[in-house]
Amino acid sequence: MPSVYIKTYGCQMNVRDSEQVSRQLQARGYTLAEGERDADVILINTCSVRDQAEQKAMNKMGALAQLKKAKPDLVLGFMGCMAQSRGADILDRLPDVDLIAGTQKFHEVANMVDRLRGVGSAPAATGAEVVAPDLASLPLPAAPADRRAPLVDIASEKGSQNTIREHVLAPKQVTAFVSIMQGCNMRCTFCIVPSTRGEERSRPIDDIVREVQWLAASGVKEVTLLGQIVNLYGRHEFPAVDGKSPFVQLLEAVCDVQGIERVRFTSPHPIGFRKDLVAAFGRLPKLCGHVHLPLQSGSNRLLRQMHRGYTAEAYLKLVAQLREANPDIALTTDIIVGFPGETEEDFAATVHVMREAQFDNSFIFRYSPRKDTPAATMDEQLPEDVKMDRNQRLLAVQDEIAKERNLRLVGQEVEVLVEGESKTNPFRYSGRTRCNKIVILEANERWRGQLLPVRIRETTGYTYYAEPSLTADTLDTTVA
Ligand code: SF4
Repeated sequence: MPSVYIKTYGCQMNVRDSEQVSRQLQARGYTLAEGERDADVILINTCSVRDQAEQKAMNKMGALAQLKKAKPDLVLGFMGCMAQSRGADILDRLPDVDLIAGTQKFHEVANMVDRLRGVGSAPAATGAEVVAPDLASLPLPAAPADRRAPLVDIASEKGSQNTIREHVLAPKQVTAFVSIMQGCNMRCTFCIVPSTRGEERSRPIDDIVREVQWLAASGVKEVTLLGQIVNLYGRHEFPAVDGKSPFVQLLEAVCDVQGIERVRFTSPHPIGFRKDLVAAFGRLPKLCGHVHLPLQSGSNRLLRQMHRGYTAEAYLKLVAQLREANPDIALTTDIIVGFPGETEEDFAATVHVMREAQFDNSFIFRYSPRKDTPAATMDEQLPEDVKMDRNQRLLAVQDEIAKERNLRLVGQEVEVLVEGESKTNPFRYSGRTRCNKIVILEANERWRGQLLPVRIRETTGYTYYAEPSLTADTLDTTVA
């Protein structure tokens, strides 16, 4: 049986898209290889958010191309955002690549792989146009003369958002991602996503609910709804009902699915938090108390330049409203340092908002110019050392805030959904609190998949250590 290995870079959307591709290949008889050396097909799902992520994927593929010397039939492919933005140009640098599939073509990857391997000649199932690269324009020598022609398909396709809906679940898997929409129309000036993921397109509520019901019936207890601008779900397709946006209607419907105990979503935009969504955090018990709320900058001047659509004051007001709706809510954020023209004053404004908002964690990124985005050609691009310095200073502020906030949890009882072996220590189990904090416990197979009350013993920063807060006898009847 042929085997496939998929390497995924980037966000949860990419993880989810790779899972769909795995599922389709498995349905055609492919097995999932443990590592790239065992595989007959190697696919890299790429990310374009930063230049570094693209370079990493290109370098990785360059190294994998060496495997072809010993294994000429090996199929090498790129999928996802970088495949979409660079298309056939990738072949200039990496002529051994056989397959390039864009972000609206994940459902075609299994067909493309079969065609490259000479298995049948399945046409694109949805009538999609397969666009061959202009091989005549490639530099010589590009590849051996008998090499099969690469397949490149980065066309857009109506309805492609409805194709990411199947899962590959591990035994006793209790959490799952559910892709509810694709694309983003916001045009933030630093972001490449609108060109790599296309216009906003949402799946119907009924279809998503059926998928979540299937997950629940398979043992999943927690779902995370995914979209590039997730809380603006359905705004072009579905009407508001009783003052509730399509996204809040969807949250209610997903929370109603029997067997699902927890619901999360990522990544939202601050402008998508209207009253109905803020109120949902106070009235939907299954909606977890954690919001990842990208700030990007605390400077109103830069927020305008970034085209973010809110001010620092409006952002902080939203933070206060969320904390009012759920006082235990955890807030995390994304911040860019070194955006073109960022002054020390702008940076100080970001530090101020960080201190005011008291984030539980922040993902801080040094600005990286992205192809064809307005910010890439703005004046006053900052040198790397300035970006690095601000990154370090902001990290220090965040660490100080997190330390203080995290210590508050020590000694408290919280509910943990136990997921299984810890990623850093397979002899321990790990789970997450409703606020998305990682908790390490002693390994006990009976706890896997359980919502377990635990008492936090200590924290080392962003990780917590805990013990079940019930006695073993009580657990026998409570957690069976
Ligand atoms: S809202 Fe997010 S995904 Fe959309 S353009 Fe802005 S940063 Fe990119």
